[in-house]
Amino acid sequence: MKLHPSSDPASTNAASYVRPVVRSFRLAFVKHAVTWVQGGGHAVVWASERKAFLVVPQPATGNPSDYGRWAAYDLGRRRLRVASSGPFEGFGSVSLKGDDLPIVEAWSIRDGIHENPTRTMSLDCVACGACCRNNTVILDAKDMARLRAGAPQAFVDRVRRTDGHLVLTLLPNGDCAALTHAGTCGVYEARPAACREFPAASECCLFSREEALNIVDGAATGPSLFATSAFSTPGT
Ligand code: SF4
Ligand code: SF4
Repeated sequence: MKLHPSSDPASTNAASYVRPVVRSFRLAFVKHAVTWVQGGGHAVVWASERKAFLVVPQPATGNPSDYGRWAAYDLGRRRLRVASSGPFEGFGSVSLKGDDLPIVEAWSIRDGIHENPTRTMSLDCVACGACCRNNTVILDAKDMARLRAGAPQAFVDRVRRTDGHLVLTLLPNGDCAALTHAGTCGVYEARPAACREFPAASECCLFSREEALNIVDGAATGPSLFATSAFSTPGT
Protein backbone atom coordinates (compact mmCIF):
# COMPACT_ATOMS: atom_id res chain seq x y z
CA MET A 1 0.00 0.00 0.00
CA LYS A 2 2.38 2.62 -1.23
CA LEU A 3 0.33 4.53 -3.70
CA HIS A 4 1.34 8.11 -4.03
CA PRO A 5 -1.20 10.52 -5.49
CA SER A 6 1.39 12.36 -7.55
CA SER A 7 2.59 9.19 -9.26
CA ASP A 8 2.02 8.89 -12.97
CA PRO A 9 0.52 5.44 -13.61
CA ALA A 10 2.08 5.36 -17.07
CA SER A 11 5.63 5.92 -15.95
CA THR A 12 8.39 4.68 -13.71
CA ASN A 13 6.72 3.56 -10.51
CA ALA A 14 8.22 0.09 -10.42
CA ALA A 15 10.73 -0.61 -7.68
CA SER A 16 12.86 -3.63 -6.85
CA TYR A 17 12.26 -5.71 -3.74
CA VAL A 18 14.30 -8.62 -2.42
CA ARG A 19 11.89 -11.09 -0.91
CA PRO A 20 12.42 -14.36 0.95
CA VAL A 21 11.90 -17.54 -1.05
CA VAL A 22 9.96 -20.29 0.75
CA ARG A 23 11.37 -23.83 0.73
CA SER A 24 10.17 -27.01 2.43
CA PHE A 25 12.53 -29.31 4.32
CA ARG A 26 12.09 -32.60 6.09
CA LEU A 27 13.10 -32.50 9.73
CA ALA A 28 16.08 -34.70 8.84
CA PHE A 29 17.42 -31.83 6.70
CA VAL A 30 17.24 -29.25 9.44
CA LYS A 31 20.83 -28.11 8.77
CA HIS A 32 19.87 -27.25 5.21
CA ALA A 33 16.88 -25.35 6.54
CA VAL A 34 19.15 -23.35 8.84
CA THR A 35 21.44 -22.51 5.91
CA TRP A 36 18.42 -21.45 3.88
CA VAL A 37 17.14 -19.11 6.58
CA GLN A 38 20.64 -17.73 7.19
CA GLY A 39 20.60 -16.85 3.49
CA GLY A 40 17.43 -14.82 3.97
CA GLY A 41 14.87 -17.43 2.95
CA HIS A 42 11.83 -18.75 4.77
CA ALA A 43 11.85 -22.46 5.61
CA VAL A 44 8.90 -24.77 6.20
CA VAL A 45 10.24 -27.61 8.34
CA TRP A 46 7.95 -30.62 8.35
CA ALA A 47 7.91 -32.71 11.50
CA SER A 48 5.18 -34.88 9.94
CA GLU A 49 2.48 -34.52 7.30
CA ARG A 50 0.30 -32.80 9.89
CA LYS A 51 2.78 -30.65 11.75
CA ALA A 52 5.36 -28.17 10.53
CA PHE A 53 7.14 -24.96 11.47
CA LEU A 54 7.69 -21.82 9.48
CA VAL A 55 11.18 -20.56 10.26
CA VAL A 56 12.26 -17.05 9.26
CA PRO A 57 15.32 -14.87 9.86
CA GLN A 58 15.60 -13.07 13.18
CA PRO A 59 12.81 -10.46 13.20
CA ALA A 60 14.30 -7.03 12.57
CA THR A 61 13.95 -4.84 15.67
CA GLY A 62 11.93 -1.73 15.03
CA ASN A 63 11.02 -2.72 11.47
CA PRO A 64 7.24 -3.09 11.23
CA SER A 65 7.62 -4.18 7.61
CA ASP A 66 9.78 -7.22 8.41
CA TYR A 67 8.96 -9.96 5.91
CA GLY A 68 8.95 -12.71 8.53
CA ARG A 69 6.38 -10.86 10.65
CA TRP A 70 4.17 -10.33 7.63
CA ALA A 71 4.40 -14.01 6.71
CA ALA A 72 3.12 -14.73 10.23
CA TYR A 73 0.34 -12.14 9.79
CA ASP A 74 -0.68 -13.84 6.54
CA LEU A 75 -1.11 -17.03 8.56
CA GLY A 76 -3.29 -15.16 11.06
CA ARG A 77 -0.61 -14.90 13.76
CA ARG A 78 0.05 -11.66 15.56
CA ARG A 79 3.67 -12.42 16.43
CA LEU A 80 6.63 -14.69 15.82
CA ARG A 81 8.19 -16.85 18.50
CA VAL A 82 11.96 -16.39 18.72
CA ALA A 83 13.80 -19.60 19.64
CA SER A 84 16.24 -19.21 22.54
CA SER A 85 18.03 -22.52 21.93
CA GLY A 86 18.26 -25.36 19.42
CA PRO A 87 19.08 -25.31 15.72
CA PHE A 88 16.82 -22.31 15.09
CA GLU A 89 18.18 -20.22 17.96
CA GLY A 90 17.55 -16.55 17.27
CA PHE A 91 15.26 -17.21 14.31
CA GLY A 92 11.58 -16.43 14.28
CA SER A 93 9.13 -19.30 13.99
CA VAL A 94 5.46 -20.17 13.80
CA SER A 95 4.05 -23.57 14.70
CA LEU A 96 1.82 -24.80 11.89
CA LYS A 97 -1.02 -27.29 11.68
CA GLY A 98 -4.46 -27.75 10.17
CA ASP A 99 -5.41 -25.04 7.70
CA ASP A 100 -1.90 -23.56 7.81
CA LEU A 101 -0.38 -26.55 6.06
CA PRO A 102 -1.89 -26.23 2.58
CA ILE A 103 -1.02 -22.53 2.68
CA VAL A 104 2.67 -23.04 3.37
CA GLU A 105 2.78 -25.98 0.99
CA ALA A 106 1.40 -23.68 -1.72
CA TRP A 107 4.07 -21.09 -0.87
CA SER A 108 6.77 -23.76 -1.34
CA ILE A 109 5.30 -24.90 -4.63
CA ARG A 110 4.98 -21.31 -5.84
CA ASP A 111 8.63 -20.69 -5.06
CA GLY A 112 9.91 -23.97 -6.43
CA ILE A 113 11.20 -22.22 -9.54
CA HIS A 114 13.49 -19.94 -7.51
CA GLU A 115 16.87 -21.49 -6.74
CA ASN A 116 18.15 -19.12 -4.08
CA PRO A 117 16.89 -18.13 -0.61
CA THR A 118 15.94 -14.66 -1.85
CA ARG A 119 14.62 -13.33 -5.08
CA THR A 120 14.51 -9.83 -6.51
CA MET A 121 11.20 -8.83 -7.99
CA SER A 122 9.96 -5.63 -9.54
CA LEU A 123 6.61 -4.29 -8.39
CA ASP A 124 4.64 -1.23 -9.41
CA CYS A 125 2.23 -0.41 -6.59
CA VAL A 126 0.42 2.26 -8.59
CA ALA A 127 -0.36 -0.17 -11.38
CA CYS A 128 -1.29 -2.85 -8.84
CA GLY A 129 -3.31 -1.54 -5.89
CA ALA A 130 -4.35 -5.09 -4.99
CA CYS A 131 -3.90 -4.60 -1.25
CA CYS A 132 -6.24 -1.60 -1.36
CA ARG A 133 -9.06 -3.94 -2.35
CA ASN A 134 -10.98 -6.38 -0.18
CA ASN A 135 -8.61 -5.67 2.69
CA THR A 136 -9.61 -4.89 6.25
CA VAL A 137 -7.51 -1.96 7.46
CA ILE A 138 -7.82 -1.63 11.24
CA LEU A 139 -7.35 1.86 12.65
CA ASP A 140 -5.93 2.91 16.01
CA ALA A 141 -6.17 6.26 17.76
CA LYS A 142 -3.08 7.65 15.97
CA ASP A 143 -4.53 6.65 12.62
CA MET A 144 -7.78 8.40 13.44
CA ALA A 145 -5.94 11.54 14.53
CA ARG A 146 -3.93 11.55 11.30
CA LEU A 147 -7.03 11.01 9.18
CA ARG A 148 -8.98 13.74 11.01
CA ALA A 149 -6.09 16.14 10.38
CA GLY A 150 -5.35 15.22 6.77
CA ALA A 151 -8.21 13.40 5.06
CA PRO A 152 -11.50 14.79 3.76
CA GLN A 153 -14.20 14.84 6.45
CA ALA A 154 -16.47 12.77 4.22
CA PHE A 155 -13.85 10.02 4.21
CA VAL A 156 -13.38 10.18 7.99
CA ASP A 157 -17.15 10.03 8.47
CA ARG A 158 -17.23 6.74 6.57
CA VAL A 159 -14.92 4.96 9.00
CA ARG A 160 -16.97 2.19 10.55
CA ARG A 161 -16.76 -0.19 13.48
CA THR A 162 -16.54 -3.89 12.86
CA ASP A 163 -15.84 -6.68 15.39
CA GLY A 164 -14.84 -4.07 17.92
CA HIS A 165 -12.37 -2.33 15.60
CA LEU A 166 -12.51 0.87 13.63
CA VAL A 167 -11.81 0.05 9.97
CA LEU A 168 -11.61 1.85 6.66
CA THR A 169 -14.74 1.64 4.56
CA LEU A 170 -14.75 -0.53 1.48
CA LEU A 171 -16.97 0.35 -1.46
CA PRO A 172 -19.45 -2.26 -2.75
CA ASN A 173 -16.88 -3.36 -5.33
CA GLY A 174 -14.36 -4.02 -2.54
CA ASP A 175 -12.11 -1.02 -3.21
CA CYS A 176 -10.96 1.10 -0.28
CA ALA A 177 -12.98 4.31 -0.34
CA ALA A 178 -9.70 6.24 -0.70
CA LEU A 179 -8.54 4.39 -3.82
CA THR A 180 -8.71 6.75 -6.79
CA HIS A 181 -9.55 5.88 -10.38
CA ALA A 182 -5.86 6.44 -11.18
CA GLY A 183 -4.97 3.64 -8.77
CA THR A 184 -3.44 5.96 -6.20
CA CYS A 185 -4.26 6.64 -2.58
CA GLY A 186 -6.48 9.67 -2.11
CA VAL A 187 -5.36 10.14 1.50
CA TYR A 188 -1.71 9.25 1.01
CA GLU A 189 -0.17 11.67 3.52
CA ALA A 190 -2.75 10.70 6.15
CA ARG A 191 -2.96 6.99 5.37
CA PRO A 192 -3.08 4.58 8.33
CA ALA A 193 -0.03 2.83 9.78
CA ALA A 194 -1.07 -0.52 8.32
CA CYS A 195 -0.89 1.02 4.84
CA ARG A 196 2.51 2.62 5.58
CA GLU A 197 3.96 -0.60 6.97
CA PHE A 198 2.49 -3.06 4.47
CA PRO A 199 5.58 -4.43 2.71
CA ALA A 200 5.57 -4.89 -1.05
CA ALA A 201 6.71 -8.42 -1.97
CA SER A 202 5.64 -9.81 1.45
CA GLU A 203 3.40 -12.86 1.70
CA CYS A 204 0.45 -10.53 2.34
CA CYS A 205 1.30 -8.58 -0.82
CA LEU A 206 1.64 -11.76 -2.89
CA PHE A 207 -1.67 -13.03 -1.48
CA SER A 208 -3.40 -9.77 -2.37
CA ARG A 209 -2.07 -9.93 -5.92
CA GLU A 210 -3.22 -13.52 -6.31
CA GLU A 211 -6.68 -12.73 -4.92
CA ALA A 212 -7.31 -9.45 -6.73
CA LEU A 213 -5.31 -9.84 -9.92
CA ASN A 214 -4.76 -13.57 -10.29
CA ILE A 215 -1.03 -12.94 -10.55
CA VAL A 216 1.07 -15.68 -8.98
CA ASP A 217 4.73 -14.92 -8.44
CA GLY A 218 6.37 -18.15 -9.53
CA ALA A 219 4.96 -21.50 -10.50
CA ALA A 220 1.17 -21.37 -10.64
CA THR A 221 0.78 -25.09 -10.12
CA GLY A 222 2.98 -27.97 -9.13
CA PRO A 223 2.98 -31.42 -7.61
CA SER A 224 2.09 -31.93 -4.00
CA LEU A 225 5.17 -32.18 -1.87
CA PHE A 226 3.74 -35.31 -0.33
CA ALA A 227 3.28 -36.92 -3.75
CA THR A 228 6.97 -36.62 -4.55
CA SER A 229 10.30 -37.20 -2.89
CA ALA A 230 10.77 -33.48 -2.95
CA PHE A 231 11.10 -32.09 0.47
CA SER A 232 13.75 -29.82 -0.89
CA THR A 233 17.30 -29.56 0.13
CA PRO A 234 19.29 -26.64 -1.26
CA GLY A 235 20.80 -27.48 -4.59
CA THR A 236 18.70 -30.56 -5.21
S1 SF4 B 1 -0.32 -5.68 -3.33
FE1 SF4 B 1 1.89 -5.37 -3.18
S2 SF4 B 1 2.52 -4.59 -5.21
FE2 SF4 B 1 0.27 -4.36 -5.02
S3 SF4 B 1 -0.01 -2.26 -4.25
FE3 SF4 B 1 0.02 -3.61 -2.46
S4 SF4 B 1 2.17 -3.62 -1.79
FE4 SF4 B 1 2.15 -2.81 -3.88
S1 SF4 C 1 -5.96 4.31 2.72
FE1 SF4 C 1 -6.96 2.88 1.28
S2 SF4 C 1 -6.20 3.48 -0.76
FE2 SF4 C 1 -4.85 4.42 0.79
S3 SF4 C 1 -3.14 2.96 0.97
FE3 SF4 C 1 -4.65 2.48 2.59
S4 SF4 C 1 -6.00 0.90 1.69
FE4 SF4 C 1 -4.85 1.87 0.01
